[in-house]
Amino acid sequence: MSQQQEYLVLARRYRPQRFQEVVGQEAVITTLQNALSLQRTAHAYLFAGCRGVGKTTLARLFAKALNCSSRGEGVEPCNECPSCQEIQRGQSLDVIEIDGASHRGIDDIRLISETALYAPMAGCYKIYIIDEVHMLTKEAFNALLKTLEEPPERAKFLLATTEPHKVPATILSRCHRFELKRISSADLVQKLDAICRDLSRSVDTQALHLIASFAEGSLRDAESLLDQLLAFAEGPLTAEIARSALGLVSQELFFSLDQAFSKADCTFAFRLVETLFVAGKDPIHFFTQLIEHVRLLCIARISGTEALPLPSEEAQLFADSARLYLPAQCLYLLDYLLRTEMQLSKSASPRTALEGALLHYIQSKHRIPPEVLIRRLSELEASWKAGEEKPPAPSASKQEVQGPVGKTDVDKVKSQVPTSVDSSFTEKKRCETIMRFAAVELEGNLIQ
Ligand SMILES: [Zn+2]
Repeated sequence: MSQQQEYLVLARRYRPQRFQEVVGQEAVITTLQNALSLQRTAHAYLFAGCRGVGKTTLARLFAKALNCSSRGEGVEPCNECPSCQEIQRGQSLDVIEIDGASHRGIDDIRLISETALYAPMAGCYKIYIIDEVHMLTKEAFNALLKTLEEPPERAKFLLATTEPHKVPATILSRCHRFELKRISSADLVQKLDAICRDLSRSVDTQALHLIASFAEGSLRDAESLLDQLLAFAEGPLTAEIARSALGLVSQELFFSLDQAFSKADCTFAFRLVETLFVAGKDPIHFFTQLIEHVRLLCIARISGTEALPLPSEEAQLFADSARLYLPAQCLYLLDYLLRTEMQLSKSASPRTALEGALLHYIQSKHRIPPEVLIRRLSELEASWKAGEEKPPAPSASKQEVQGPVGKTDVDKVKSQVPTSVDSSFTEKKRCETIMRFAAVELEGNLIQ
């Protein structure tokens, strides 16, 4: 591409021109190619999936292959014949693209029904690609249904939607339906890496992983982000540059939080929030990143380092940090953060809310996991039953109580227990009260 030429965004410049260039939709491609090679194509297809996973790209490729004059027995469009070239430039008279969001009325669809009756100009088929088809009005859907019920012989309808549940069942039942999946991080990284190599730009793998995690399975989002970051970084694109351009907090801060958790150092909560505010970081954005951090810790702790969607060096850092937590603690924190996220976004003073949440995060180091509580309770119960036959040894059971339940709960228990009664009665009351506290703490998870 010469410097004078208009700049093409990466998503358009690297749009697949052949089925084999499409990332991550193997099952759909195999089915489409089989239909092409067996010459058994349906009249209508529906491509459903999230944004940026390749719905319209696949529809265009399929249209190109259907009308390609030099495809022969093959399954790929030639990209050289007049029909392929015209479709590529968006100038084909036989392939008509309609944006369902802006052409949603009955007149727009009627026009399709009428023109579909005419024979194609040059290609084999008259092909209508209707994007965001779920946006059509009820009347427009009815008109489309009529056409689909008795489709003109040489017309094909390729519908694309992000919300298939909004498409009437009568339309769905007349379409061959494809569910496009989100593109995996590994596939996204591979594609971005190929683009960077083609552009002769030096980019850290870690930065590509960062972009992939941000894009949430959408190739178009990933390519747009890469576009922005390449424009932002003059030299090589490092993970640090990517973080700062994306407004992300440095990874170091999260690893320091893991250390603070392991030492139960509550003062770190205030220091961390101060650092964030001085740097002008958004607390909600930080919290989202924290959730992702804990999610990765959970994966490392439960499924192992190899399950982390990260380059090996970074995965090792997570594995080291994850060892500071028990699996139950990771799960509890993830659950807590997800529950707190909504409250934080609604809070009138996000700084204080964030400090409170981080204090709770660090303090939960001392939280007793339910399974330990249940075990200790069973032991207490057993000792209580044994005490009905003979009074339990007071010193041993006292230790039993103080060990699992923690200082605060023991204090509460003590305040409820009369001091001037015999030791067996005291022990019974103590057990009952602890059981009640535990039941509250376990939120009804206690079976007996
Ligand atoms: Zn061709």
